[in-house]
Amino acid sequence: MDNHEEQTFKAIVVDDDPSMCDFVALIAADQGLSVVSITDPRKFKAAYSADIDLIFLDLLMPSIDGIQLLRFLADNQSQAVIVIMSGVDQDILTAAENIATDHGLRTLGLLTKPLSPANLISMIDRFKSMVVANSHKSGFADGMARGGSDELPSLNELRDVIANRGLEVFYQPKVSLGERRASGAEALVRWNHPSKGFIPPDYFVPFAEKYDLIDDLTQVVVESVFAFSQNWLAANAPIHFSINLSQFNLADLALPQKLADLAQKYGVPSGSFTLEITETGLITHSKNDLDVLTRLRLKGFQLSIDDYGTGHSSLARLSKMPFRELKIDKIFVDRCDTDRDSQIITMNTIELAKRLGLRVVAEGIEKESQMAVLHDLGCDQGQGYLFSKPLAHDDFRHWYQSQ
Ligand code: C2E
Ligand code: CA
Ligand code: CA
Repeated sequence: MDNHEEQTFKAIVVDDDPSMCDFVALIAADQGLSVVSITDPRKFKAAYSADIDLIFLDLLMPSIDGIQLLRFLADNQSQAVIVIMSGVDQDILTAAENIATDHGLRTLGLLTKPLSPANLISMIDRFKSMVVANSHKSGFADGMARGGSDELPSLNELRDVIANRGLEVFYQPKVSLGERRASGAEALVRWNHPSKGFIPPDYFVPFAEKYDLIDDLTQVVVESVFAFSQNWLAANAPIHFSINLSQFNLADLALPQKLADLAQKYGVPSGSFTLEITETGLITHSKNDLDVLTRLRLKGFQLSIDDYGTGHSSLARLSKMPFRELKIDKIFVDRCDTDRDSQIITMNTIELAKRLGLRVVAEGIEKESQMAVLHDLGCDQGQGYLFSKPLAHDDFRHWYQSQ
């Protein structure tokens, strides 16, 4: 095993405003990162090394600006994950992020000033789960395994909450963009920790994957959704539900039979469920994956490619797998109404997906203007805060019945 020293993530914060620099560095350190802060951007090049994992970069600085530093990172083929922070206009931020991606840099997102601790922490959480999911390093998962911390529950607690079926499932409505009517709902797992509060799935699902708890977690979620579906069926109002699978679930050759048996146990038709698997989870697929996916289809479940557009895989290759649906990732949806490139990518994706016979769902729709563009481009369904946030059972029932 690697020693823990080597597993600590290294971060650099670059911001000419010392108070901002301190604020970010403090929170990042509190989240377990080893942080260097730089208030003079000219010192960045000297402080940078290839083993830096995360960079918080201010765009607007005297002497050297953030774009120049991005170019420096690109020239050095940096593998660090970059978070751009700035108080400048959204379109400048978007342009900067585009420059970073065009140069092959890994960006995680934008933080607009004034920064809130919650946004910053959730960005760091996303960084951690991204890295854990990519299995580059495992320092944080090991931190959880070592017994947790003030912020983090322990692995044993995760094991317990799964075993005791203490996880909750929320439901986010899916809406058909044509009639703007509810067309189903996606099940999203939630961990309401008694003392640490709400812990998002992006955080604990990767731990469940790493510590061999993911099959149990999936089963708990599936049973909860099947039971809910059974209620709707009994009330003569069948609803189509989508459930997220982890790529690691596909390693279990018995999965198709297990899910079919559970559907039978709850008396729900397998055809009223779509199983979502992320595009990135399908990139390194093994022969088993294709076998399991095909047998899930044979058992009647529908399959969906989730977060499409984040993995740079070809749709032509994915079309050889038995998918029915494609979900366009929210990073494209986010800008489809303001950024020409995002719009072109979205348009091409929708066109190609439809030619391949896939239903297209856009996720993360927050604005009417995004919804209008997507509808014009031929997208079938959408999800997002514009329609509804993910809701607990009863709230979902109210929302659905009010439709
Ligand atoms: P996802 O499958 O891409 O789910 C969509 C995420 O986007 C959800 O986050 C949802 O709350 C959020 N979202 C929905 N509409 C909007 C919007 O308009 N704007 C923004 N900014 N966000 C929106 P959530 O619930 O935190 O889930 C995060 C991820 O965790 C999911 O991403 C999924 O990959 C994973 N996950 C959730 N539940 C499960 C599960 O039961 N099993 C597995 N394996 N993974 C799960
Ligand atoms: Ca999903
Ligand atoms: Ca998604």
